[in-house]
Amino acid sequence: MSQPTLKLPANISSARRQIDLLAWRPLDATARSLFFPLGLQVAIFLLFVVAVYDGFFGSDESGENLITWGAFTIFFWPVVLSSSVLLGRAWCAVCPIGTIGAVANRFTIGLKWPRLFSNLSLSLIAFVLVLWMVRPITGFDTVPSQTAWFFLIVAAVAAVTGLLFTGRVFCRHVCPISAPLGVMSLVAPISLQAAPRGELRSGPSLEVAPAQPAAACQECPTQACYRGTTDREGCAWGLYPAVMGTMNRTCSFCLKCVKSCPTPGTIKAALSWPLSRLWKVSQPRVGEAFSVLVLMTIFLFHMAWGHGTRTPTFIRDAAPDVIPFLSAEDAIYVSVELIGLATMIGLYSAVAFVSSKMLNVRYRAAFTLFAFAYLPLFIFRALGYLLRDVLSSGGEWVTFGLSQIGVHLYLDPELFGSFSDPIFGGTTYNVYAALLTVPILLGLLVAGYVAYRIARSVATDNGRALRLAAPHLALMLVIVLALYEFPYLVGYKIIGAPGLLYG
Ligand code: SF4
Ligand code: SF4
Ligand code: SF4
Repeated sequence: MSQPTLKLPANISSARRQIDLLAWRPLDATARSLFFPLGLQVAIFLLFVVAVYDGFFGSDESGENLITWGAFTIFFWPVVLSSSVLLGRAWCAVCPIGTIGAVANRFTIGLKWPRLFSNLSLSLIAFVLVLWMVRPITGFDTVPSQTAWFFLIVAAVAAVTGLLFTGRVFCRHVCPISAPLGVMSLVAPISLQAAPRGELRSGPSLEVAPAQPAAACQECPTQACYRGTTDREGCAWGLYPAVMGTMNRTCSFCLKCVKSCPTPGTIKAALSWPLSRLWKVSQPRVGEAFSVLVLMTIFLFHMAWGHGTRTPTFIRDAAPDVIPFLSAEDAIYVSVELIGLATMIGLYSAVAFVSSKMLNVRYRAAFTLFAFAYLPLFIFRALGYLLRDVLSSGGEWVTFGLSQIGVHLYLDPELFGSFSDPIFGGTTYNVYAALLTVPILLGLLVAGYVAYRIARSVATDNGRALRLAAPHLALMLVIVLALYEFPYLVGYKIIGAPGLLYG
């Protein structure tokens, strides 16, 4: 017997007026300027060229070379995290690899990308394999010339896919950070849309009737935002702002559609409450749910269990025998990663099964429905980690940045003084440790609230919403307290190491 899909109103978004950032003249003028985003694209592309040159011909020390330092100390953490939390995929509007792919795409021979890979699977596999397995094992991110080769190869793949296939195939389906960026972009309080209010097709259901786009779009003869005009580009990502919905996860805020649209004010950069888009995700996809699980594995499970004294003895003992072709250290690293992935996917799949039974919907619908609720756990943990890095290494970053423009000034790495004294006697728990263990507790509250709001969108009353959210609240508690906080508290000697795991 086929099970029903979730029924939702076509547009569950609030009817309240939304703030449109493009109504603010300076921003509107910037959006319409021909120098945006072109000027930024050129500047960052030149910086990329200089960094690759430095990789081949500059210092061999990773901490003194622009490509290793810039890409893996500054870009892959502070820049990507803070820009996606504040501005969604805005980085993609100026990314040099994306620029290379887009230029190549102008000369495409027009092949169609295979449907089989028209999802997030390749991007997610590349993220896990290349950035989280091969990178630490080979250490290519610490050798400047190898890092430069890595980026040249990625740029070449972007150029070749751009030349072969129509659309921004590399960015949508291949780039190793595209899948994580897509889900993280939903944390941002800004979304682009040409709907009178809310997001079109909003609501977590897989089957939501499309709502009506703005009146101007319904009568628009050109659809210039999407197709472009003779003297203006359309959306290079193939997005159609009149029905953004799911597409907002791909939108880079390049704002070319705003320049092309003949009816000013139709396309809005709508401001919403931070994180509120997580419970209005339209048509969540399986690949996105897996992206959230991968982010949680790496940044919660792996960070908690994968380092030194926090790794249980049985993994340290068994891993080198199970994976004999790697060094003992790499075998432990890979083992923790794989155990983490299996744990996160297994636990979440089990709870999603309970949700599917409670809702009487297909398993796939339940699997995708609640995944975004877990994102605040990762985001709060990552923001705490970022703040810890700024406090412990901010001076180093400034020293290096200044040296690149010829100013040689040594600043203490701990710009604001040291925070390494233990807070509690007999432990090693200090402010840096607190930044790793406390923000995620706030994330737990927010994640629980998002789970409740998602449940509320498919429940008839508050009581049922709470019951629907309960299995996910329980899993969040397990993830935060047992999988994450516990090994940290053991590592910082707040609690003793249990013999079963650390005997
Ligand atoms: S998807 Fe990847 S390559 Fe494309 S613009 Fe974004 S970060 Fe750059
Ligand atoms: S060009 Fe403007 S009016 Fe026409 S469909 Fe696009 S957003 Fe709507
Ligand atoms: S929808 Fe508009 S802002 Fe978004 S990527 Fe396309 S052209 Fe750029």
